[in-house]
Amino acid sequence: MAIRVTVWNEYIHEVEDPNVGRIYPKGIHGCIADFLTEAGFDVKTATLNMPEHGLTEDVLNNTDVLIWWGHIAHDKVSDEVVERVHQHVLDGMGLIVLHSGHASKIFRKVCGTRSSHLKWREAAEKEILWVIDPTHPIVDGLPDEKIIIPHEEMYGERFNIPTPDELVFISWFQGGEVFRSGVTYRRDKGKVFYFRPGHEAFPIYHMPIIQKVLINAVNWAAPGNIVNCQPGNPDPIVPFTIEDDGFDFKPVTHDH
Ligand code: ZN
Repeated sequence: MAIRVTVWNEYIHEVEDPNVGRIYPKGIHGCIADFLTEAGFDVKTATLNMPEHGLTEDVLNNTDVLIWWGHIAHDKVSDEVVERVHQHVLDGMGLIVLHSGHASKIFRKVCGTRSSHLKWREAAEKEILWVIDPTHPIVDGLPDEKIIIPHEEMYGERFNIPTPDELVFISWFQGGEVFRSGVTYRRDKGKVFYFRPGHEAFPIYHMPIIQKVLINAVNWAAPGNIVNCQPGNPDPIVPFTIEDDGFDFKPVTHDH
């Protein structure tokens, strides 16, 4: 069965700014959904103004990987939906957070830090993303150790995230700053990838190399067959007896 992807977008810039609308006539979510569908995934989209932001329990139950793009309306996303998405991540749903999603409620919750804190500048600078982990599945098959984006918004360190489980990309920007542009986290059963590129004023998600990274990221973040590890207070797997050496042990009974 194909991996089921839901692409979530706040979908405001594309409607309100004609320049952005020209780059993404079907919205950023529409562009991402198109190339993921072409890659063989089972893709749906959801946007902010849909009931429950299009992220109902039913939708999330049928989502293996959720992709998140948001920027100017993070505070319009209801806490209830964020909590629901978070529970699904803990239960194994993959989460890919893009660009300005660094400040979204869901990414801040996943990080547990003020991940919105970073430097930024809109000056159409060149960005070079350097591959830091050439064995990582997210960079599988990339033709080079770097991705060059001719014009992007700059994000600079310090990026106030917890130390990543894996660092996949570091970016250099023309103005001198650097940034951890591709980072992963495990949260319970869920795999999380943050990927920096994707400012709405540049055609980033039309770039085949960026599409390749996101296709790889979906494959990586999908839960697969997760081993069922049970918490609890089990009897010994291997029965054993303890010699009576006079040590008087009385178990303390309490609930966890
Ligand atoms: Zn931006």
